[in-house]
Amino acid sequence: MSDMDDFVDVTVSRGGRQVSAGCYKLPVSVGRGEHNAIRIGHDPQDKTVSRTHAIIQRDGTGLRLIDKSANGTIYRGARIKQGNSIGLGTTDHFEIFEFSVTVSKAKHDPSIPVIFEAHVLVDGYMKGKPFLIGEMMLLCFRRGKGYRFEQVPVRADFETICSNHRIDDEHAFAAIVGHRGAGHLFTQTAQNRPVILVNKQPIGETSIILHPRDVIEIQNIRIELYPPGENSLKCSNPSCQLLNPYVLTGNCRFCSFGLVGAVTRVAAATRKVQS
Ligand SMILES: [Zn+2]
Repeated sequence: MSDMDDFVDVTVSRGGRQVSAGCYKLPVSVGRGEHNAIRIGHDPQDKTVSRTHAIIQRDGTGLRLIDKSANGTIYRGARIKQGNSIGLGTTDHFEIFEFSVTVSKAKHDPSIPVIFEAHVLVDGYMKGKPFLIGEMMLLCFRRGKGYRFEQVPVRADFETICSNHRIDDEHAFAAIVGHRGAGHLFTQTAQNRPVILVNKQPIGETSIILHPRDVIEIQNIRIELYPPGENSLKCSNPSCQLLNPYVLTGNCRFCSFGLVGAVTRVAAATRKVQS
């Protein structure tokens, strides 16, 4: 059984507005108390959500939802009462009062390496050493017009990471994570973050899959994700500069520019993550 069976992607929305999204290790507890992986309904005036309201856990290769609450959890219009459980589909929904929770098995693409070697460039110049993403995750902060990058151990809960690592008026708006064979970019909702481009395309989602040789651009910051130990070619078309597999006679997969004479980048072979 693959490791990805131990992870789920969960998004929570309230009144149609997304309040959290992340990839979590099972079992995942949802409720008002601080111990929950997903904390909802903890405003002081809001006592309807139980301290531990529901648990999502692995059930063979599937998922199971267990209600632990005083008031129940709504699944497909029916109330699951305390202590009862129900099998969840690959992508499924349930409701806890006004909170709508969507759960899906974590996305997995076996072609994604365990770690990325991330090169961070500011105004075209490499900033510091490459970040090895997979054993660590890269957090992106904004402060006024400036940016800061910090590596922290991989944690499943992006919301918690952001609040724990916020300094003064800094604002964490994105995390690049390579974990258990999959790469992810987690961001806050679009109104709270700068425009983020992945391979020149603006992203609208708060969680997307990253692939080796993706390029993330945030204003004058450019983050190039190299597959470790492999050669890559950077397109020499000045308006493109995206990354390609090492095929010298090929054309850029984005702009069709010939790759002859393109800059070769070799990401250093690095330690593999044991997970
Ligand atoms: Zn190109």
